[in-house]
Amino acid sequence: DLVPLKRALISVSDKTGLLELGHALAARGVEILSTGGSAKALRDAGLAVRDVADVTGFPEMMDGRVKTLHPKVHGGLLALRDNAGHVAAMDAHGIGGIDLLVVNLYPFEATVARGAGYDEAIENIDIGGPAMIRAAAKNHGFVTTVVDVEDYTALLVELDENDGQTTLGFRQAMAQRAYARTAAYDAAVSLWMAGAIGVANPRRRAVAGTLRQTMRYGENPHQAAAFYTDGSDRPGVATATQHQGKELSYNNINDTDAAFELISEFADAKPTCVIVKHANPCGVAQADTLAQAYGRAYDCDRVSAFGGIIALNRPLDGPTAEAISGIFTEVVIAPGADDGARAVFAAKKNLRLLTTDGLADAGAGGLVWKQVSGGYLVQDKDTGSIAPDQLKVVTKLAPTDAQLADLMFAWTVAKHVKSNAIVYVKDGATVGVGAGQMSRVDSTRIAARKAQDMAEAMGLPAPPTQGSVVASDAFFPFADGLLTAAGAGARAVIQPGGSMRDADVIAAADDAGLAMVFTGMRHFRH
Ligand code: 5GP
Repeated sequence: DLVPLKRALISVSDKTGLLELGHALAARGVEILSTGGSAKALRDAGLAVRDVADVTGFPEMMDGRVKTLHPKVHGGLLALRDNAGHVAAMDAHGIGGIDLLVVNLYPFEATVARGAGYDEAIENIDIGGPAMIRAAAKNHGFVTTVVDVEDYTALLVELDENDGQTTLGFRQAMAQRAYARTAAYDAAVSLWMAGAIGVANPRRRAVAGTLRQTMRYGENPHQAAAFYTDGSDRPGVATATQHQGKELSYNNINDTDAAFELISEFADAKPTCVIVKHANPCGVAQADTLAQAYGRAYDCDRVSAFGGIIALNRPLDGPTAEAISGIFTEVVIAPGADDGARAVFAAKKNLRLLTTDGLADAGAGGLVWKQVSGGYLVQDKDTGSIAPDQLKVVTKLAPTDAQLADLMFAWTVAKHVKSNAIVYVKDGATVGVGAGQMSRVDSTRIAARKAQDMAEAMGLPAPPTQGSVVASDAFFPFADGLLTAAGAGARAVIQPGGSMRDADVIAAADDAGLAMVFTGMRHFRH
């Protein structure tokens, strides 16, 4: 898999690090081919360089629009060195192999970012550069493609570690980056054009992925929307099979995704049901049967559950379908549905039933994107999790085993509740969820208030937060939130810890006779 590096083609707009790279390659005996400006810079620094025009027999022409677009270049990049036919074609046409391509593209993004006019933007669409990058990256079995100044050092290290050769792993890694670059480049061109000629429709705009569905509207009726899939075969809303009901709407998909991500945390647990509204769980419960789990989840917040999205960690069965049919539900997603369940739902024309091939791997990594004005935030998916033996008991009182199980359950649910998140749990069921408040104490109050409301509606003698446990997705900055939870009847607390005032909060917990554990891990979700 090692390939010696004998010839390089360098064609860069950004000349940063170019001379250092040129010297380093020349010192390793590499022959350098280059285009106009790059060749001049290298030559001025005293390096021996061969012009691409000399190789192709054509001058660079049309203001640089045509420089490297020639079989002598592309044949040298694309030829399979171990294919007799390819080698014969190289010989017949005097094509020399190119083992390394170093290209960075015309600065299209920077050009439009500084507000250049239409014609200047068009002139800054690189054509030959992406063509060479795509060719070289395709032929990574033999060719190394470098598209980023930041990778020059890695290239030299690779050569030094392998006696002037490159490994397949390195060439693959570079090829992957190369395609990321050309994809981003063309997306930038398309997005700029969408703005320049006034294209608003999302399905006509550049989005990485495959168009799966155009929607009547987005989050609101005046917003156009579309759904793209990214080619992943991970179980989820994008790959689920829909058995009945209308097309999913934008909000349905968003909420179903939230429900499915949360239920996937319970892949190995007993029968569990999640009910989601507006991307937040309003009831999560476990029981011996799915139907019971649904009932307990529903009892957490019967008002919010109306028109909700339900996710199950077991194939949907008839009794659960019967129970769910009691109120209007938008979507049910489960890893399967038996005939009995399908028969029950057949009468519910508006209910969408989705089945998946198992649950998602909650620990599998991935990226999360969020658009901000003028850019994107990209981060790792929150796959963090804590095992019970990693918890630190910080109060005089330690949680009982039953409380510990509820604390872990509450913590897992809190990870999927928009911050500030407060989740009360009793006996494997949420009994109060406070989401999305700007102050933690408000989330704590709202969750307790909802439990109180449910107790009144159901004629319970006491609110179900009595004797519960509570999870907080981030630390309590003051004792007030904790004391509110204690006032609602919570007996044990799980939270990350790490506040400046942890000592005060721990003292308040001790005074209130609470058991409290720290996770050392936060689960903000916005
Ligand atoms: P130089 O400064 O060396 O004259 O030009 C380098 C730039 O030209 C690089 O950004 C490279 O991607 C681009 N380039 C190389 N070949 C071609 C071509 O055939 N057509 C166009 N439009 N750009 C090219």
